[in-house]
Amino acid sequence: MYCKNCGSMIDDNTNVCPKCGATQNNNVSETNDNGGFLWGLLGCCVPIAGLILFLVWKDTKPKTAKAAGIGALVSVIIGVIWYVFVFVLSIGIGISGY
Ligand SMILES: [Zn+2]
Repeated sequence: MYCKNCGSMIDDNTNVCPKCGATQNNNVSETNDNGGFLWGLLGCCVPIAGLILFLVWKDTKPKTAKAAGIGALVSVIIGVIWYVFVFVLSIGIGISGY
């Protein structure tokens, strides 16, 4: 692709022109950054993967990163609620059991 500012040929994956320093709109990454529901689902199933994807993509694919991050966050929140529920339930059983 070519720089929008000075017209020199630059790498497709570069967002900044090495000649003049002008910021480029990288259309390739924008079309891939669709905030995919599947990435949210992956983040929900595998929170660690969701967190890693969020950290890797937060600059290049903010929407997809957010989807994966929210999935991971939801999974962690559900995990905490489940832990508290089991904890309270076990106390309840312990008290009523005697
Ligand atoms: Zn340039």
